[in-house]
Amino acid sequence: MKTCLITGITGQDGAYLAKLLLGKGYRVVGLLRRSASSDVIGERLRWLGIYDDVELMDGDLTDISSVLRIVQAVKPDEIYNLAAQSFVASSWNQPLLTGQVTGLGVVNVLEAVRLLELPSRIYHASSSEMFGLIQHPIQSEKTPFYPRSPYAAAKLYAHWMTVNYRESFGLHASSGILFNHESPLRGIEFVTRKITDGVARIKLGLAKELPLGNLEAKRDWGHARDYVQAMWMMLQQDVPDDYVIATGRTTSIRDFCRLAFGHVGLNYEDHVVTDPKFFRPAEVDVLHGDASKAKKALGWEPTVSLEKLVIEMVEADITRHQLKLRA
Ligand code: NDP
Ligand code: GDP
Repeated sequence: MKTCLITGITGQDGAYLAKLLLGKGYRVVGLLRRSASSDVIGERLRWLGIYDDVELMDGDLTDISSVLRIVQAVKPDEIYNLAAQSFVASSWNQPLLTGQVTGLGVVNVLEAVRLLELPSRIYHASSSEMFGLIQHPIQSEKTPFYPRSPYAAAKLYAHWMTVNYRESFGLHASSGILFNHESPLRGIEFVTRKITDGVARIKLGLAKELPLGNLEAKRDWGHARDYVQAMWMMLQQDVPDDYVIATGRTTSIRDFCRLAFGHVGLNYEDHVVTDPKFFRPAEVDVLHGDASKAKKALGWEPTVSLEKLVIEMVEADITRHQLKLRA
């Protein structure tokens, strides 16, 4: 039986990845940071029905002693470093914390494996936000980076440290440059989930309006369930490497609204209002990925269309509000 350690196990990707790896027969251990809200912290794992199947160990990614202790005790075959301050908008409000968790955090993982001389394979969660002010209309592993937020700058540091430890110390460390991926378990502050939750509340008569920021930005959105599959595939390769994971289709926030409201027979123009509070100090106008390397080397391809993703998210949010669920 293989053992994996997931940092960020309570987040969207951590929950889907834990489910995938449990299904493959892994012992799944998660790093859980202490919270005063421990009763709600495992909601995503509960939503997927796996809360009792994973082992949660107390620690924080920024605390090297806890990372070292857990890695030494668990001796994982595979480590997935997903923990981060992951919300771009908050990274302008908390730039130093974002640097510590999203940037420096992975170095604690890399150092733990190096110092303990373990053969653990490491996956690091890089991000398409590193492309920022895009230098090429379609972004691949070869496209130069131009980060546009403290979050993206922190991810860029973490990305290069992962590459550096691979090249310097021979660690089996891979970095997945994942484009935006969503699901019913996406954090409520991200635009897709904010929209599908808004659609559900408006449809059920719980709200009338949905305040949003820049509707013209475009993202390449996939389903998180597909994307965690790619993370696992990267660690099954003999040689570690970096891969772009994307659908190759880009859509505006406006068109996402059109699809989500349209699914319940509403016109987004009747409900979406612009609130400047949601504009960002610097915007990433468009992201559009080229995942052909992952397709060729890993055999990875997305399986869920944007239309199906939107329907799954809207329906899940309607169910949540009808049943007054928390997640
Ligand atoms: P989430 O925000 O849903 O999850 C983040 C996780 O990190 C949570 O489990 C959170 O714990 C944990 N965490 C935050 N700070 C710490 C800390 N100091 N110590 C330990 N754990 C911590 O993110 P996603 O699941 O959406 O994303 C997973 C990773 O992939 C992130 O690194 C993200 O930046 C990156 N990424 C995501 C993309 C996407 O579209 N989803 C695209 C590209 C990259 P808690 O529950 O306690 O808050
Ligand atoms: P990001 O790509 O990681 O920043 O993911 P988000 O879902 O947070 O944002 C995607 C895009 O949606 C960005 O270009 C935002 O400016 C835009 N956007 C427009 N309105 C909103 C909003 O109300 N909330 C969020 N989170 N983003 C918004």
